[in-house]
Amino acid sequence: MNTPQYKHIFYEGNSSEYSKAIQLASESVVRFLEKNKKPFSGVTPAQLRAVMAPIDLNAPLPDYASLLEEVEKLYSDHAIAFHLPQYIAHLNCPVVIPAIAAEVLITAINSSLDTWDQSAGGTLIEQRMITWTCNEIGYDSNGDGVFTSGGTQSNLMGLLLARDHYAKEYLRYNIKQKGLPAESSRFRIFVSEMGHFSIKKNAALLGLGEQSVVAIPSDGYRMNTTLLEEAIQSELEEGNIPIAIVATAGTTDFGNIDPLQQIGQIAAKYRLWFHVDAAYGCGLLLSSRYRHLLNGIEMADSVTTDYHKSFFQPVSSSAFLVKHTRSLDLLKHHADYLNPKEHDEDGLPNQVNKSIQTTRRFDALKLWFTLRLMGKQQLGNYIETIIDTSAAVADMIQQDVDFDLLSFSDISALVFRYYPERLDEESVCAVNQYIKKELFKEGAALVAGTRINGSFYLKFTLLNPLTTTEDVAKILQIIKDHGADYLKHHKQALSKTREIA
Ligand SMILES: *Cc1c(COP(=O)(O)O)cnc(C)c1O
Repeated sequence: MNTPQYKHIFYEGNSSEYSKAIQLASESVVRFLEKNKKPFSGVTPAQLRAVMAPIDLNAPLPDYASLLEEVEKLYSDHAIAFHLPQYIAHLNCPVVIPAIAAEVLITAINSSLDTWDQSAGGTLIEQRMITWTCNEIGYDSNGDGVFTSGGTQSNLMGLLLARDHYAKEYLRYNIKQKGLPAESSRFRIFVSEMGHFSIKKNAALLGLGEQSVVAIPSDGYRMNTTLLEEAIQSELEEGNIPIAIVATAGTTDFGNIDPLQQIGQIAAKYRLWFHVDAAYGCGLLLSSRYRHLLNGIEMADSVTTDYHKSFFQPVSSSAFLVKHTRSLDLLKHHADYLNPKEHDEDGLPNQVNKSIQTTRRFDALKLWFTLRLMGKQQLGNYIETIIDTSAAVADMIQQDVDFDLLSFSDISALVFRYYPERLDEESVCAVNQYIKKELFKEGAALVAGTRINGSFYLKFTLLNPLTTTEDVAKILQIIKDHGADYLKHHKQALSKTREIA
């Protein structure tokens, strides 16, 4: 019975519409691959708004073909193409096809991973992916965790456990029930100055204020552990309360890894929660050649991993891992309708007990498809290729007199600037900002920009094993051409400002 009012609902009566729709959608994706030859079309918001404006949302389209045609004009034709070798801007990896295939099942079957009674086997698959990751980290069988929406959420959970663990163990105080204790205004969290901004943002969300985050200077863009210990002692002397250290395994700007073992020892010495933000660096878990760079991660009380940063997974795919499953009890809340206490007694696994989300996607299936079809080693080879290409590119930049490379990377992020002649600081920032803007307008190659100590730099983040040193050499040439153009047009103005100065 296929009565018209049931049209479009996903059920057995509409399986042929389902197959057709998926087929047409995937054909549209293939057109995206075939048509988009640059990482970005260069379209402006005004141009796309003009395409958007005449659309009447109350007048549905007649069929999938016209729907896809409209979406291609509005979106796919201009979407940033992360799979192209010339996209080397932010921490966006190309994705592997088994993970995309898994998405087909994830959205259609639509399990919700909060409870066993909404997911069944999905829960067990998620738990196996968590156990597998714990094992790669080096945790024993007490390790546990949950999939999250991203590194930001995982970092929030790490700080939440750090805060509530401290209050419970050392103040005999239950924050979950009673809210923040008076002492919490003196809680302090230590992170390197290169740590991710979500640490500050999360400290604010947790009611500790950004003031609770103490930024530790870095050496070669890795946390300086002598200064870390000095900072802990000076906070103690001032009557403040150190509760946690966050080490970054792969900083967003430089891809550098804090000295995890030393930091772990300091955390143990002062009895602080040790969280490792491996949103970017978790990819090294896959590589036998570079796994040692993460040594010490197994000392962490909690870890952030972002599979959508460096496991070639589509957004979202991330996890929060803990060394001791019991620490997750700090999050547990029993709702009579969802996860009553009896379920725990009956041995029913309800992942909502470990999560700050309720309804939650079955993202773990993507990683399952990937590992079961490709295996860890093939992913590890991709990571190794990326690291090797980055090292070769770093040498190339360093040897070129027109460029100034700020640092070699432990993984694959390179911060540098076009610096062909002795320019004053203001002009060198201006020329690099100009280059970044022109590249985005053109769309032939996308790179990122960042500020280090107030100065503007360009940044490459290499996450695509298809990107070769030749591809990057071409991009460096485009950068030089734009830079030279800018200098030619501004030389007079520049020399005038210098005369005045
Ligand atoms: C990207 C990143 C995050 C945030 O992760 P999202 O998945 O974007 O929320 C956290 N920490 C580091 C070091 C990152 O690079």
